[in-house]
Amino acid sequence: MRRIAGLETEYGCLSKRTTESAPVPERVRDHLFFRESIGLIDVHDRDYDEPAGNGGFLFNGGRLYVDMGHIEYCTAECLLLGDLLASDRAGETLLQSALIDLGLAGEASFIKNNIDHYTGATFGCHENYLLQRDAPLTQANVDALLAFLAVRGLMVGAGRVGTVLVPRGVDRGARTRALPFQVMQRADYIQTEIYEWVQFNRALINARDEPLGDPCRFRRFHLLLGDSNMLPFSQALKVGSTSLVLDLLEADRMPHIALADPVRTMHQISHCPDGPWLIELADGRRWTAVELLEHFLQATGRLELEEDPDTLWTCLAWEEVLRGLREESEALVGKVDWITKRHLLELFRSREGVRWDDPWMESLDLEYHNLDEKRSLASLVPHTSLEDLGLPRRREGDPESEAPRNTRAYARSQLMRRLAASKTSYVIDWDYVQVGNSGYYSLEDPFVSVVPPKAELPGFCEDLELRSK
Ligand code: ATP
Ligand code: MG
Ligand code: MG
Repeated sequence: MRRIAGLETEYGCLSKRTTESAPVPERVRDHLFFRESIGLIDVHDRDYDEPAGNGGFLFNGGRLYVDMGHIEYCTAECLLLGDLLASDRAGETLLQSALIDLGLAGEASFIKNNIDHYTGATFGCHENYLLQRDAPLTQANVDALLAFLAVRGLMVGAGRVGTVLVPRGVDRGARTRALPFQVMQRADYIQTEIYEWVQFNRALINARDEPLGDPCRFRRFHLLLGDSNMLPFSQALKVGSTSLVLDLLEADRMPHIALADPVRTMHQISHCPDGPWLIELADGRRWTAVELLEHFLQATGRLELEEDPDTLWTCLAWEEVLRGLREESEALVGKVDWITKRHLLELFRSREGVRWDDPWMESLDLEYHNLDEKRSLASLVPHTSLEDLGLPRRREGDPESEAPRNTRAYARSQLMRRLAASKTSYVIDWDYVQVGNSGYYSLEDPFVSVVPPKAELPGFCEDLELRSK
């Protein structure tokens, strides 16, 4: 991949909770943070980052916290697709093993999806890509990026039963009748092209500028539009293809393509699982989404990139999916989430003689995303596993407790272990670790994996402290 990337996944939780006990996500978080190999120090004694006790950073370079009732797991910053997928899977293993340890596995499940079918609420799977600060964000390049992002879900969407675009107040059955199945989980929730906030008026491109690194050299490109993937093939293609398009942007070699209306295009594509996925370009031409994706793939071929295994894998997978979409989508069962889910649900529906608006279909949609392998529909179907992808990795040991060795996640992890062993309290974020008032470690270059020398706190911090006294 050659680009630092990280994923944040919010998990839905189904539980038969009685009012006496704490919510399952909180119990799981507390359980994990008291398991010493995972990462922490005493969760209730900390005075740093998120509200005390919410969760925090892990020895494996990731972060786990409860946010608005959901558990969110962030992967470490990774340079290789294989490491990124292994980091993400480590989060799944941690959550599922905590349910088992707590004796909750029979009555609670974590669901790696993006929608609550009952309330219509959504939760995200954010993608983060390191971008050079001087990447040319011209209008033409941003238009091309919007075009790619609007249609990308056709290759990697997770699919869903129903829609939320039928007005609220109409019963759920009617919403499912209006649209039995669509390609993307998040499409209906994306309302604008570019916007700063993550919770309202969600955008194709999130414009919040928080580089989590040296702001003079880097940006963090933060995407909210994608679906959580269950199938490793879809997940790797999602990140690999987007990273390649960002290569085009940085090299100022983006195709000259703009859509007439990117958000509408995203909705239209998502709402037509059978195609033909016609799209309208800003200059009035009509293409298909497959042609547009083909155009981007060809453009990446002209980049003269080093032929690293991640790029090679991504280009082959991209080609394979476009061929499947053009000719025979069943060939993508076990690789592309929405196609696999639709295939399974259709099998079930015709065997049982139920209609798409039967509530059963929504619950099966959820079960596709269950982290419990014994219950997950996704793991029932023969599929390409992470190991089958054959992607290289740079992590030694167990991804649940070890960070990848080629990014700053490794340095942060080593520092955390050292400080935890000496029971020293510290303040931590992705790009620094501060030890009391005695100094800090700057991790502002995400490519540097060695622990830097401890630096003195910048003068303004001391000033602030003096003033507060
Ligand atoms: P929110 O949950 O409100 O969206 P956020 O995205 O700002 O918050 P985190 O939830 O802490 O922040 O997640 C940060 C994500 O970004 C992680 O997945 C991490 O691996 C990744 N990341 C950290 N630094 C960088 C960077 N410099 N470039 C790309 N990805 C990064
Ligand atoms: Mg987050
Ligand atoms: Mg985020």
